[in-house]
Amino acid sequence: MTRVEVDKIIDKLTDSFNLNKFDEVGVQEAYCRKLLNLDYRQMEVAVDALIETDSKYVPPISVLIKAYRDSKPNPAMIANAEYCSVCDDKGYVLMTEYRKFTDNTTIPYQYVLHCNFCPVGRAQSYNGMDCKNAECRTNYYTPPITRYFDENEIENMRESNIARKNYKLTQFEIDEIKIVFKKFSYKIPELRPFEIEHGDAWEGDEKCPF
Ligand SMILES: [Zn+2]
Repeated sequence: MTRVEVDKIIDKLTDSFNLNKFDEVGVQEAYCRKLLNLDYRQMEVAVDALIETDSKYVPPISVLIKAYRDSKPNPAMIANAEYCSVCDDKGYVLMTEYRKFTDNTTIPYQYVLHCNFCPVGRAQSYNGMDCKNAECRTNYYTPPITRYFDENEIENMRESNIARKNYKLTQFEIDEIKIVFKKFSYKIPELRPFEIEHGDAWEGDEKCPF
């Protein structure tokens, strides 16, 4: 999390628990150092869970970390506080691998890699073998981007995403896109009263079968 997010968590801890040792030398710094490596949303969920335990004291770092590991935020609620130029805030990158077969045909296969540079991406991390229920385990998994792309390739991803994000369409390009869209769209005709047919399946006094 960012420094601002760390401060929000510290404030939340201070406000939610009656007693803390944040005014003692080095205590708050120790919390901050640990928090900086963790995900803000997940820690928020963890702190909310700890608040419900009704303790008077701000939990020690070890308890906070345990609650953090136990907390599973809803992936749909996770958002990047800062734009992730690696994955364009999508949380994943598709990798195409071309497989050659004995009959000389080549077929492209696409794989999903999770972005390990941002919270949205880390929420997309999945390993079917980690499932607690042994019967549900699968071989499917989403490896991190860094397993298949080196530093230079990741830097290229960043540059192309930033360039695309900053690119401003010219009026000519906007007009061209409008022309293309017009080819695919057509006007939905107005519904005229005489075209409305009443109840094929259920009519008037009949009892609704559903
Ligand atoms: Zn990302």
